[in-house]
Amino acid sequence: MFKPFFARLKQGHQTRTFPPEPKLSERYRGLPIIEDEHNETAVELCPVEALALDPNGKLTLDIGRCIFCGNCEKSGAIRFSREYRQATFSRKELIFGAELEETGERLRTEIYKIFRRSLKLRVVSAGGCGACEADINVLTTLNWDISRFGIKFVASPKHADGIVVAGPVTANMKDALLKTYEAVGEPKVVIAVGACAISGGIYAGIQSDCNGIADLLPVDLFIPGCPPHPATILDGFLQLMRASNN
Ligand code: SF4
Repeated sequence: MFKPFFARLKQGHQTRTFPPEPKLSERYRGLPIIEDEHNETAVELCPVEALALDPNGKLTLDIGRCIFCGNCEKSGAIRFSREYRQATFSRKELIFGAELEETGERLRTEIYKIFRRSLKLRVVSAGGCGACEADINVLTTLNWDISRFGIKFVASPKHADGIVVAGPVTANMKDALLKTYEAVGEPKVVIAVGACAISGGIYAGIQSDCNGIADLLPVDLFIPGCPPHPATILDGFLQLMRASNN
């Protein structure tokens, strides 16, 4: 009878501290940094065209496309930091090295004030490989315990404050995604998780895919990665709730 009790006692406190610093694996590739901005070799090494040269011959890096494969590191142009905080409210802020204009895509703070303490989200798996979903799901485990921040994943869009989309949106999932979005009451948020949802990722340009959700829905939060680390996803959600507090 006391066995489960003693087992629980032995396990101790399992939930990691977050923030400030999550435990990251030694192999973790965080936010990439451009070290050599005139390096053409890096562009050739990138399998998903995340790297490009602008008209002035300077390197730009779109982390909304990047699959963090590490190929470009060989050229010496890119170095991967340990920074896990990568989410942005604007698609243009995911493109490093490019001139940043005023985008007008800032979070609609006034509207989202109601989400400051509690955020209920419906996850839509829109045809990817399942890796982003795995890193979203892990947030509900004892280890991350996302509910301590007031964030919950719900089964019905009618109970949700917004949707979290992973995957490039296959043609077969397009209607389901749009119907799920419609079923969420106003005001609502749309969060794109992973390179596929942001830009199509490795599926970009395939005829049966929609190249992510940017052309289908108004995206409030972009969380890059392939897949993003759970810490990156959680940090993005918390950014959104913090912005709602301002
Ligand atoms: S890490 Fe990103 S930018 Fe570098 S080669 Fe891979 S996909 Fe391209």
